[in-house]
Amino acid sequence: MKVRYFDHAATTPIGENVLKAMLPYLTYEYGNASALYTIGRQSKKAINEARKKVANAICAKPHEIYFTSCGSESDNLAIKGVAYANQSKGKHIITSKIEHHAVLNTCKTLEKQGFEVTYLDVDENGIIKIDQLINSIKPTTILISIMFANNEIGTIEPIEIIGDIAHKNKILFHTDSVQAVGNVKIDVNSLNIDLLSMSGHKFYAPKGIGALYAREGVEFEKIQDGGHQESDKRAGTENVAEIVGLGEAIEEIYKDYDNYNQKLLELRDYYISEIQKRIPNTKLNGDKKLRLPGNANISFPKVNAQELLLALDEKGICASAGSACSTGSTSPSHVLTAIGLDPELTEGTLRVTFGRDNTKEDVDFLIDSLEEIISKIQKK
Ligand code: PLP
Repeated sequence: MKVRYFDHAATTPIGENVLKAMLPYLTYEYGNASALYTIGRQSKKAINEARKKVANAICAKPHEIYFTSCGSESDNLAIKGVAYANQSKGKHIITSKIEHHAVLNTCKTLEKQGFEVTYLDVDENGIIKIDQLINSIKPTTILISIMFANNEIGTIEPIEIIGDIAHKNKILFHTDSVQAVGNVKIDVNSLNIDLLSMSGHKFYAPKGIGALYAREGVEFEKIQDGGHQESDKRAGTENVAEIVGLGEAIEEIYKDYDNYNQKLLELRDYYISEIQKRIPNTKLNGDKKLRLPGNANISFPKVNAQELLLALDEKGICASAGSACSTGSTSPSHVLTAIGLDPELTEGTLRVTFGRDNTKEDVDFLIDSLEEIISKIQKK
């Protein structure tokens, strides 16, 4: 059976050129990047080339990029790192209620360690309330951490404005950009970003590689003890092949960004308009305009999303009920709850996220399948 994959926010397949670029470092180029002999130096060179590519993609400098094992580690390093290094100035952090658990649970841990965290509300489209952000700032606020784009509903936050508010108040600004990197053009300077987290497997690099951007001069502590790799901020022998894969993937995606973006927008907008035409009483969640190009999050009334996912799977279609991380959990999504979605609609919410290999024919198959399955499983 042909697999039709519409879950690119959960993960993406490894790109062909990415794999090709990685292969030497999984085979004969096995030198430890800290070693002085030739194959060690070659690994080091490959890491530094990748560092340049990652930096270029977000308008940063190479020495502002630190490789990590994933997006979650990058979020932990940014938030805990800044909190520990700056606690003499204050112990207050501001974040939002719709962050990924990599941020929310990091903040929970910091609360247990004596830090104070404010969790901002969002409006019905998932956008943080700027007035509430301004009113939440205290003399002890050291960090604002707001995601660039939400992983469930795709809403893009007003990053430039948040960064500006942070800087006017001498507060550092971190953004979890795991869903945005590869999907949105990012310039850390014009967007006033001090720290940014990304994860390779969301843009055709392998799972298990991420990076943190930290602006030159930003103080943050390492959270893992060991060797002095990554400018002494992230101990552990470098995963050369995956770092090379991350560099290749980010360079490739931004080289062809306009075409990729256009393709995702066309597939997404076609899917949304056909679903709204053909299935009654659906609700598109997230902001209509300020949303990721490949994200369509739609609630179907009187439908159980788990049942829907299983029926789609029988047709070879992969999609998601909410965020992949909450799959298997029976509690309603914290994001859909935060936007005030009717619990009955929350239960019937399907996230479809498009990618590079999807075709219009695939999307037509998805729409036809949804129409057929929903008419069968919808409770009367
Ligand atoms: N932040 C967001 C917004 C995400 O969507 C994810 C993963 O889905 C993460 C963080 C965690 O990234 P990783 O899976 O690389 O740890």
